[in-house]
Amino acid sequence: MPDRDELFYKKKNAYDVIDAKEISRADAYCEDYKSFLDKSKTERESVVEATKRAEGSGFVPYKRGMKLKAGTKIYTQIGAAAMILAVIGKKPLSDGVNIAAAHIDAPRIDLKQVPLYEDGDMAFFKTHYYGGIKKYQWVALPLALHGVVIKKDGSAVDIVIGEDEGDPVFMITDLLPHLGKDQEKKTLAEAFTGENLNILIGSRPTGEEKDKDRVKLTVMTILNEKYGIAEDDFQSAEIEAVPLMRARDVGFDRSMIGAYGHDDRSCSFAALKATLDLKIPQKTAVCILVDKEEIGSEGVSGMQSAMFEDFMEDLCEATGVKLRDCYKASFCLSADVTNAFDPNFADVSEKLNGANLGCGVGIVKFSGARGKAMSSDASAEIVAMLRALFAKKGVVWQMAELGKVDQGGGGTIAKYMANRNIATIDAGVPVLSMHAPYEIVSKLDCYMAYKAILAVFGLG
Ligand code: MN
Ligand code: MN
Repeated sequence: MPDRDELFYKKKNAYDVIDAKEISRADAYCEDYKSFLDKSKTERESVVEATKRAEGSGFVPYKRGMKLKAGTKIYTQIGAAAMILAVIGKKPLSDGVNIAAAHIDAPRIDLKQVPLYEDGDMAFFKTHYYGGIKKYQWVALPLALHGVVIKKDGSAVDIVIGEDEGDPVFMITDLLPHLGKDQEKKTLAEAFTGENLNILIGSRPTGEEKDKDRVKLTVMTILNEKYGIAEDDFQSAEIEAVPLMRARDVGFDRSMIGAYGHDDRSCSFAALKATLDLKIPQKTAVCILVDKEEIGSEGVSGMQSAMFEDFMEDLCEATGVKLRDCYKASFCLSADVTNAFDPNFADVSEKLNGANLGCGVGIVKFSGARGKAMSSDASAEIVAMLRALFAKKGVVWQMAELGKVDQGGGGTIAKYMANRNIATIDAGVPVLSMHAPYEIVSKLDCYMAYKAILAVFGLG
């Protein structure tokens, strides 16, 4: 008769499962991940960094009609904020492709298109936050500005201010507690409003005392000297305020990483790295680094866009395969983070099914909210396939769900892939303080996400 250990499921901490060699491989992987994080604070910067790494690994820009043979490594950029990479496999596309899809946008504070104003002898930028943020977390925190200004003549000016040691930084102010009597009575949602997330950018006046907007003039003069822009150039700019903090080890034991944007760079880096590490796979491997997930996967660079069909249809046409035959035989790991159990907020999680920090990559069979709505709810067959695969490849994993039933919930790009008739399931790194300016992940979980994607790319 089987004993308790055989009959019962027991979740294990990755440190108890893997050996010292594997732990040091994970640590080395995470050093690389941290350097990726510091270079890739926006989706555009992620594309630049991923492209640089891809070209360094022999990937070439895809051109329609180019010769594709087993081992050919290609990439294509969708605008400046998303990209697809592929390593052509030995098998025909009618056998399907293995896909790892992750997003490279992250919650942040965007400048509005007419952002600059002066009030109380100070200059500010008006903003509109991007993605699901808790607004109180973004005040009284040093911010850097990253982005691009496209001038009237079409020329682009890249802007990064705040990251260098000597750079100035930018802040959204908070109310002093001494005067917080009314504020404290408000709910979190009411106490911090979107229109109050104005970024302080200057306080030094220029010109005659009788003039108006003298601080605004100082700011605009500096921007003009440094970047050659005038106020109307903001209309065609995308400038994002992001947390200044760099990726750092967390904890005495250095087992965790704190950084801005683990959602979803912990998975997009894993997908990228696994793709770059491939030689010649059996089936073609496709890596999607997509934008706009945090606002519903809309737009040309989002996962609902036909840009993915365009790319895949090109590959299929080149080898005389019908796109629908390729999709039908394909598999997609929607690589996105999930929430890690937080003992400080234990009541939002259900312990049996929630992910624990350090217990491996989390497989999320369904996301969604209110009765799994808006979720593609992957099949038992897919989970079984991954169980067998991960056992074979030494991937430490756990089941995960986004909080207690009816506590809230959330979605990913999984359903947009599944709706294309591609077998898809979510899997990703469990995160503490998700969507906060500084999020926390376990190093071993990050490494296991990479190993999970490598394993998927190895599916024959
Ligand atoms: Mn995400
Ligand atoms: Mn998110």
